[in-house]
Amino acid sequence: MRSLTVEPGVPDSLKLEEFRIPAADRGSVLVRTVALGVCGTDREIIAGDYGSPPPGHKRLIIGHESLGVVEEAPKGVSLYPGDVVVGIVRHPDPVPCANCAVGEWDMCRNGRYTEHGIKSLDGFGSEFWRVEPSFVVPVTRSLGLAAVLAEPASVVAKAWEHCERIGRRAQWDPQTVLVTGAGPVGLLAALFGQQRGLEVHVFDRVGDGPKPDIVRALGATYHRESLDLVPGDFDVIIECTGAPSVIAGVLGRSARDGLVCLLGVSGSAGVQSVDLGSLNREVVLDNRVIFGSVNANRRHYQAAIEVLARADHAWLHRFITKRVSLADWKEAFVPRADSIKTVVLFDDNAIPNID
Ligand SMILES: [Zn+2]
Ligand SMILES: [Zn+2]
Repeated sequence: MRSLTVEPGVPDSLKLEEFRIPAADRGSVLVRTVALGVCGTDREIIAGDYGSPPPGHKRLIIGHESLGVVEEAPKGVSLYPGDVVVGIVRHPDPVPCANCAVGEWDMCRNGRYTEHGIKSLDGFGSEFWRVEPSFVVPVTRSLGLAAVLAEPASVVAKAWEHCERIGRRAQWDPQTVLVTGAGPVGLLAALFGQQRGLEVHVFDRVGDGPKPDIVRALGATYHRESLDLVPGDFDVIIECTGAPSVIAGVLGRSARDGLVCLLGVSGSAGVQSVDLGSLNREVVLDNRVIFGSVNANRRHYQAAIEVLARADHAWLHRFITKRVSLADWKEAFVPRADSIKTVVLFDDNAIPNID
């Protein structure tokens, strides 16, 4: 089988390698890959900034946004050859901590979790992969290639679940949401807001390309000039850019009792100027919450797949802006300003609605 591998910590070490199909001791479910989504995390790993190989290995098979078809599954589980599935990225730590012990590995307390294609566990960027049955989730077949969005959507599902749990500390009747960043995560966050019946606003710096129309097609309002020009305070703000200037601009923009959920990951960008005294005053006197969210557990994948299944499938396909066959894999990892989601096609005949 062909697999995309990197040597973590070494910039630009990505290559396509040949391996044997993994043996059953790596998991009783064998999945044949249909497609692999590419995101900023993959590019960071390829740049050598992030990631670790499995213990005892030098190289890591990358890829965490999977879509595949079950080839082999054990008896007694509700998975069958031909089922379309995605793999769950994070696995619980070996101790396990209190959260991992109950399947809430997205909230791991000791940091010893592993992640396919990222941290100490081979990824899904391979023609075949194996896992145990509890780490694959069946997806709606009619989604076609859009089901490759299940993993980023699971991260968004967790963020919304936590917003709602925090919101329910009192009477919870949100009306408006602001999403910053119209990449895949931001667009999915907007979709969740739309399905909740909220008035959705999306802010992104890009003025051309497909993003403005995709946002408007959702019935949401697209803003691009400056956050200061976006009118109103918001019950929920989901920050997906990780850009310090945008973060500084949203922290004070939630309504009374409102929430700011930080979903974007930043690198160090030096000192930013924020009037912490004024911000603290607003946060305290208005019961505001600012919190971070990462990753997802099985429940979030299931919630994500339900949201994707209810969405307009043609709308979802619009933000898969680049499809690259495995033979041309190098093209998939070149970042392009006008691209939203790039997908590597491992087998474009495997499921219907692939385009
Ligand atoms: Zn990703
Ligand atoms: Zn844990």
